[in-house]
Formats: sequence, structure tokens, C-alpha cells
Amino acid sequence: MNQPSPRQARRAILRLADAAGFDLAGVTGAEPLSRGAKRLKKWQDAGMSADMGYMQRPVELLSNPKKLQKTARSVVSLGVSYYPGDYPEVAEDSGLGKVARYAWGRDYHTVIKERLMELRRDLESELETKVRARAFTDAVPLLERSAAERSGLGFFGRNSCIISREVGSFFFIADLIIDLDVEPDRPGSGTCGKCSRCMDACPTGAIKAPGVVDARLCISYLTIENRGEIPVDLRARIGDRAFGCDICQEVCPYNKTKARMSRWPEFSAEAGAGPYLDLQEILALRTKKEFDRRFSGSAITRPGRAGLVRNCCVVAGNLRLEHLLPSLVECLVEDESSVVRGHAAWAVGEVGGAAALLALKTASGSETDPSVLEEVRAAIFRISG
Ligand code: SF4
Repeated sequence: MNQPSPRQARRAILRLADAAGFDLAGVTGAEPLSRGAKRLKKWQDAGMSADMGYMQRPVELLSNPKKLQKTARSVVSLGVSYYPGDYPEVAEDSGLGKVARYAWGRDYHTVIKERLMELRRDLESELETKVRARAFTDAVPLLERSAAERSGLGFFGRNSCIISREVGSFFFIADLIIDLDVEPDRPGSGTCGKCSRCMDACPTGAIKAPGVVDARLCISYLTIENRGEIPVDLRARIGDRAFGCDICQEVCPYNKTKARMSRWPEFSAEAGAGPYLDLQEILALRTKKEFDRRFSGSAITRPGRAGLVRNCCVVAGNLRLEHLLPSLVECLVEDESSVVRGHAAWAVGEVGGAAALLALKTASGSETDPSVLEEVRAAIFRISG
């Protein structure tokens, strides 16, 4: 068969994407994402990308689909809802830390990649032509949200998420860069209007201006991408969030009315870690092997063992649960990571009391890492007043 016309290709893509279970699909050309490039440059120059190396790459690379595939003619942007519903209610003293919704089920990278490859095969057989494609979700250097906006999936909300008027913002974005000419969609339209609920609700004030999130303050960055210390002045504001943060999406009126339950069983709470982590269990994960076994196939592996245990120390400190004191003291004394020991010291200080003070004083006699010793001394000072 001859090359399909751009219109034929578009019809086939939209139909097959829907049949494959994608909630949203749109197409844009493979030319550079100039609007996104401008946004990114400003954000990078302001130092808001923190230490996320992949977001500090040259703007020309991140904004140009042809850098990923030389033969690219079109970018197909796809959206799949991961919305698994609300957090089940739990008692305050249950010793649980929240997981951001996108990570309740199985790791989206592998799940979506498999379906994207199927979609490419379906497209080839429907159009009876070879399609060269690069398929990915959140795993290559491209401004996926900008591509999604230009493909008509939605508009940039004040929380910097792409908001779809059909499904809100609880969806994964995936892309197929292909070597077919496809009739493009119009860029996404819509606005937040006068609403600034996300900016008001963000516990750390990370949304500095409409659409501009300072990663250095964002709980998602601090608990997932960040490998080091969580700044002391931000720890209390993390509350009970052990992995990621959904607050700026939860308060969004679009999500309140449009969020669509995910149709993909892989993203249900039953398929993965679920909505909460048991703090006591995580605080006891002492080796990478144990951690990998516990979270194999889940996006929760992203911060690594030390990062996740660090987060759970912070949550345990914020919840001030006495029954977690022995677990925190074990982290303080036994963990090989100075980041974990430092955050455990802080959390022991937050729980407070005579047993906590004794543990901290004992640790101050044996700890040799200066940064941990500083945390230990600060915690002793807080308890002793
Ligand atoms: Fe603020 Fe949480 Fe949204 Fe980050 S994810 S901008 S911390 S509300």
C-alpha cells in the first residue's frame, strides 16, 4: 500500500489508541517545542530544577523530537488515567505514610511501554506500512507535557500539570514519535480562570507563579528525586506523605469533577504498593536486596532504599508516634546511610521523651559522621529545651 494520507493516519491512530485503552490521544508535528523551550529555559535559569540532571540538559535537546529520532515526522501524545480513587480513611495513629496516586499500582514505565509497542504494531498492520517509532513515557529527554499541550491533550495548569477538560490531570503522558505525516491537532485550550487553589494549598509554597513549580520546595521532588537531605524547615510540611504529593491536583476543580477512574488494572491499588506504606515495615528495610524484593515492579523504587527510609523517618517524626521510636532508634544506630541516620535522629527528636533523649545521647557518643552528629545535637537540644 502507498503511504497513508495524513488524515487516514490520524483516524487510525485515534481509533487504535482508544481501543488500546488510552483515555486521550492527539498528534503534533515533530518540529521543536518552542513554547516549552522558553518555559524550560526560564525555569532552568532560576535554578528551580534542583539537582535533576535530566532536566538540566540543553533546552535544544529537550525540546526537539528529532533529537530522539532523526526520521521523526509526528509526535503522538497519549494520556492514560491512573486515578485509583480517594485515599481510604485511616486512623491518625495507624503508622501509615501516603503514597502519591500514580505509584499505587505497577510501575507505569514498563506497563505503558508494552502497550505503546502494541499500538505501533497495530498501526503498522492497519495502515499496511512500516512505521519507525520511538515509544516512551517519562524516560527520555523530551518536554512531554509541552508535546501533550501542542497535541491538544490539555493546557498547562497553574500547578504546571497538563489539565484535560475531559479527565483532569491524574493521567500519565506517553509518546510515540513516528516517521509518518499525520494531520495534527490544535493545541490544548482552556485555562484555570481565576482559580489558584493549588497555589494556596501547596504546603511548601512551591508554586512560585502560575505554572512555575520550584522543584527545590516541591514534596514530589524532595521525596522521590532527591537523594540527599530534606531541608529541616520543610520536613514538618511533608506531613504524612512518604512518597510524592498529590495536593495540588487534589484541590483542582477539574479533578474534583472530571477525574476518571483508571481502566488499567495495572494501576489499581491491588496491583502494587497501594495508597499507604507501613512505616514500621519500611523503617526496618536495611538492605537494597530487601528493598528491591519488596518493591519490585513498582515506581516506589525511584528514591532508592535510603531515600524511602529517609522519607518514612520524616513522616514518623511528623506523626510523633511513640510506638515507632524503637524502629527510629534502630535506623539511627544501625543504618549504613548517613542520610537515614540523620533523618532518624531528627524524627527521634520529634517523638521526644526520656527514651528518645537517652537514645540520642548514646548515639552522640558513637556517631562519627559530622552531618548526623549535627542532627543528633539539634534533636537533643529540642528535647532538652
Ligand atoms: Fe506543592 Fe505538593 Fe504540588 Fe509539589 S506536588 S507543588 S509540594 S502541592
